[in-house]
Amino acid sequence: MPTSRRIPPPHPLASGRGAGWGLPLEPLYSFCLRLELPPPWPLFPMRGRESALSRPPSSRHQQRQVRTHTCTGAPTIHPRPRPLSLLKGTTSQLRLGPWSPHSCLPPQPLLTPTSRPACHGQACAGPKADRDRPQPLGYPPLTEILASFFGKLLGQELDPLKNVLVTVGAYGALFTAFQALVEEGDEVIIVEPFFDCYEPMTLMAGGRPVFVSLRPSPSQDKEPDSSSNWCLDPAELASKFTARTKALVLNTPNNPLGKVFSKAELELVAHLCRQHDVLCISDEVYQWLVYDGHQHTSIASLPGMWERTLTIGSAGKTFSATGWKVGWALGPDALMRHLRTVHQNSIFHCPTQGQAAVALSFERELQHLGQPCSYFVQFPQAMQRRRDHMARSLQAVGLRPVIPQGSYFLITDISDFKSKMPDLPGAADEPYDRRFVKWMIKNKGLVAIPVSIFFSQPQQQHFDHYIRFCFVKDESTLRAMDEKLQKWKAELRP
Ligand code: PMP
Repeated sequence: MPTSRRIPPPHPLASGRGAGWGLPLEPLYSFCLRLELPPPWPLFPMRGRESALSRPPSSRHQQRQVRTHTCTGAPTIHPRPRPLSLLKGTTSQLRLGPWSPHSCLPPQPLLTPTSRPACHGQACAGPKADRDRPQPLGYPPLTEILASFFGKLLGQELDPLKNVLVTVGAYGALFTAFQALVEEGDEVIIVEPFFDCYEPMTLMAGGRPVFVSLRPSPSQDKEPDSSSNWCLDPAELASKFTARTKALVLNTPNNPLGKVFSKAELELVAHLCRQHDVLCISDEVYQWLVYDGHQHTSIASLPGMWERTLTIGSAGKTFSATGWKVGWALGPDALMRHLRTVHQNSIFHCPTQGQAAVALSFERELQHLGQPCSYFVQFPQAMQRRRDHMARSLQAVGLRPVIPQGSYFLITDISDFKSKMPDLPGAADEPYDRRFVKWMIKNKGLVAIPVSIFFSQPQQQHFDHYIRFCFVKDESTLRAMDEKLQKWKAELRP
């Protein structure tokens, strides 16, 4: 395949020659300035650095809605409110919004890192992994197992040194990808509802987000709503591609909706990416969490897509070990070399212990893949039972859950509740779902996340009647939820 014009030429830093991006002498400090973010340490301008920190906002600042820090004059980015910022001070409530790490068990190797089998000739976890020399691309046993494991799934021969980068969680992989590939003025198509960091990450790289919405169509008869009814309009999607489009961000299974893109839907996206020579950043962190026999397909496995796709994964989701913060990006060398340059000059390498444990977990999965004892078989089965439990409970009180095909989130339609609700406090222009959630947290002790937060500003008013629950909860939490919902139902106006 001819080299895509979207793939930047090799960067001089990659070959150790120096200063193309203005990174060299103080890498972290210069990195922050390149992003035009205040560096982490001088909250007060330091002598000799005033000029850099207090210089007037450039057009790039304005484009990114930069406000000036009141004390320092340093520019700070104000992204849209984070979903979790709504949850402050809710310790006594039932937190059904975010995921709780203790509510599902990671597989055996993560629990017993001391029972360490040999891993590529080395002990993977334990004291040796602590002391091993850091590797900027990732701990070799992990990059090697990722290459062989995902190589099989993607139908590619992966080179651990060229096609794999281990990062601080999938967040790290996404951030590195945006920084490496999106340039000033590039347009990035984001399918909404979207995991909320895609928009600020695009802006921080100097790009312009262009949104395209998944829209629900009514379900047939009395069937419960399904995330599969949320679809892209092919003509609308096609209209978003312009000569400035650099990349499209796809998330399947999708957070917050739980939609698993079908092969036909992915083929449409792939066709447009190929036609317009656009890169694809494919966030597949929930790829093992698919239900009811649905299949996850990696867009990179479709014809002509490997060359232009970055596939992002997370051990936090794969092995229920969010706190380990191990993620990865997989892709062709022509793209990965730019990620390596950014990573090498920002994070450099990730903590080894977590990587070692994740390597062990993949080793085990490789032996058991597809068998009943595989974690990738057992975990979705357990989660599907919890999904069904939560959906039944919500239906029982008259809410309309949208049954997710994947992920561990479930959104529910609250429109029918509007007439039964008291007048909710809050500003008139505040989306209804945010007011609803705040009221519910305070008055019913149930924590959820308003779904409008996962949409771009103009679309928020159209999607302000859904809230998101997370069903990765232990049985006792789900039972406590049932009780609260039943109590609420008894109090509802007829
Ligand atoms: N992508 C999606 C869609 C997510 O939901 C999350 C976590 N909520 C991430 C990426 C980040 O994953 P990690 O915890 O590995 O950084």
